[in-house]
Amino acid sequence: MNKGGEVLRLEGIRRTFKQGGEKIEVLRGVDLTVARGEIVALLGPSGSGKSTLLQIAGLLEQPSDGRILIAGQDCSRMGDRERTLTRRLRVGFVYQYHHLLPEFSALENAAMPLRVRGESKAEAHGTARQLLSHLGLSHRLSHRPARLSGGEQQRVAIARALIGRPSLLLADEPTGNLDEKTADVVFGELTDLVRNFGVGALIATHNTDLAERMDRIVVLHEGVLLAA
Ligand code: ADP
Ligand code: MG
Repeated sequence: MNKGGEVLRLEGIRRTFKQGGEKIEVLRGVDLTVARGEIVALLGPSGSGKSTLLQIAGLLEQPSDGRILIAGQDCSRMGDRERTLTRRLRVGFVYQYHHLLPEFSALENAAMPLRVRGESKAEAHGTARQLLSHLGLSHRLSHRPARLSGGEQQRVAIARALIGRPSLLLADEPTGNLDEKTADVVFGELTDLVRNFGVGALIATHNTDLAERMDRIVVLHEGVLLAA
């Protein structure tokens, strides 16, 4: 069923937006597979459709056409409820901006996906404490996001994305807001975790140095993906 440990398969993905009276075809038949444990860099100029593609792969947006399989499961014709459940179980997201909940501590933010799934507070917080400590944040557990540095905020966002052991990690310029040195360190931590957890990852970036450190590079060009 799940050929070769594929965590993501996109087939013929199309996405058209209407702007004013005009139709813009941003994605014109995107094909891609990501294997378990593989880290794929998604490159392309601003406006080429990277964020759109990640939103579609993560079941947050519907394509105009095409098929999406996550961990071997065809998600193309799922209803809203099934899509949401699949996303919660199978997909972790990291964005350029952390999107942490401001009223909650680092620990509570990181533990949130497990709480949503119904794990007890003690259990969820235990797992979150371990993961955040691994990321060097054991002295920041009770801090709210506003009291964390940019690098610390992204580490908490990474912990939140991976804590539920998803099959697929989708990241949209995850270190784009960080200074070069911090970006380098946080990116290394992210990829180490992805490899340790056996997650497959698709990471959009502008940074060609970071892209070179991934397993494979694909480039969005005029609505289709090209191997670099
Ligand atoms: P990237 O992430 O590579 O910068 P995006 O996926 O954000 O590119 O956007 C690709 C194109 O699709 C842009 O031209 C953008 O204006 C357009 N677009 C994205 N989302 C929408 C939307 N909801 N409605 C209309 N156009 C959109
Ligand atoms: Mg984008």
